Amino acid sequence: MTYKLSAAAHAISAAVLFFTSLSGTASAAGIKKDPKLDEAVISRYVADKLSVWQERMNLKDWDIRIQLVRADKLEPKTLGNVHWDTDVKKATIDVLSPLDYQLPYNAMLADMEVTVVHELVHIELASLPRSEASRRTEEHAVNEITAALLRLARN
Ligand SMILES: [Zn+2]
Repeated sequence: MTYKLSAAAHAISAAVLFFTSLSGTASAAGIKKDPKLDEAVISRYVADKLSVWQERMNLKDWDIRIQLVRADKLEPKTLGNVHWDTDVKKATIDVLSPLDYQLPYNAMLADMEVTVVHELVHIELASLPRSEASRRTEEHAVNEITAALLRLARN
């Protein structure tokens, strides 16, 4: 399928600041062997988070795929991105692979959930006009909304 050139990527700094307050709440997932490298388990984790948040954010009418990607598929210093087509309500979210994450396991899982919510907020805003000039403002708003949603969800 061909996507329009609608995309967003978020920078590592905001998420790193955020996850530090969440890392204690991520589940340990009970995995024995080098779990950080178990991409299948983590693929299921992010797919589950996508499903939960799609429901919460009333985005079930969107066909959204999620995949783990290596760092060289993302913009430098970002943890994820999203491409969408509002006409057909399809989107793909890329999340940084555990192979390239530089965080402890629980912190990484919490951070991946931040990425999922962050990219879904971008989809909520997808029908608004966007420009190169509005990107930074949108990014700030998306980070604030994401933080608020996650605080609510974890209370
Ligand atoms: Zn973003």
